[in-house]
Amino acid sequence: IKMLLRLRQQSLALNQHNDELEALLEARRAVEQMKDEFISIASHELRSPLSAIKMYVNMVLDGEVGPLNEEQGQFLQIAEENTERLNQLVNDLLDVSHMTSGRLQCQVREIDLGKEVPQTCANLRVLGDHKHIQTEVMVPPEPVVVLADPDRVEQILTNLLSNAYKYSLEETTVTVCVSHRGEVAQVDIADQGIGISEADQARLLESFFRAETVRNSRISGTGLGLYITRKLVELQAGEIWVESALDKGSTFSWTLPMATAEGEVSGPSTSA
Ligand code: ADP
Repeated sequence: IKMLLRLRQQSLALNQHNDELEALLEARRAVEQMKDEFISIASHELRSPLSAIKMYVNMVLDGEVGPLNEEQGQFLQIAEENTERLNQLVNDLLDVSHMTSGRLQCQVREIDLGKEVPQTCANLRVLGDHKHIQTEVMVPPEPVVVLADPDRVEQILTNLLSNAYKYSLEETTVTVCVSHRGEVAQVDIADQGIGISEADQARLLESFFRAETVRNSRISGTGLGLYITRKLVELQAGEIWVESALDKGSTFSWTLPMATAEGEVSGPSTSA
């Protein structure tokens, strides 16, 4: 009888434990939902006033309301640059909001990574100039034709390359390498920067996550770029991963499916 009583007590305690766990999960789901709703409302509501600010600042900068003196021009230029940063943040928030609601669209078609990657690298290498960072781009001689959305591929490259420059040390090299194996194309972006600890690597592709190395630093960021990048890669049937060592550097690698040898035309559009 004693044993039965003890078993009954244990089963009651287990039930109570389960109820508490369920309540916690429910609370967590509610918080997640509130976070998604907040991101959605904030990003949509910020868009129009921000566009208006951008438009008027640019009109004044372009001299449409008369000439500016040097100081006025400088101050307005700073306002314009910060508006652009805010605009980028709102665009990122909008992407996150579309991802969580499954409305992010990808229009895939055939593109040659052998052309696309060097082009985007050439546009972005200026980001490394002030730290005297060299950029090396390696592509195979033959075309590397993948099925992907060109705008999204550019967005992925821009996110990863700007991070590579942002977290690189002075006078180092950023290396971008395109390769292919069977039905998969791969792009590796390697830097010789601050690196990421193993513990942080595990959480790196989550939204709003910033590594220990930068959390209290002056390097600004939102922790949204890599999350969006991961979603965009996965949306196009690719994979992304990172290899990194603290104070040595990081390599971000991602894949995309190759177009078939028969030259398959654009596949179905996909959405997250
Ligand atoms: P952020 O806006 O903070 O750069 P990301 O989502 O692009 O946001 O990156 C998330 C975090 O991952 C960064 O805050 C940084 O800690 C780390 N990180 C990303 N890329 C690199 C890199 N190339 N080298 C070192 N750390 C990186």
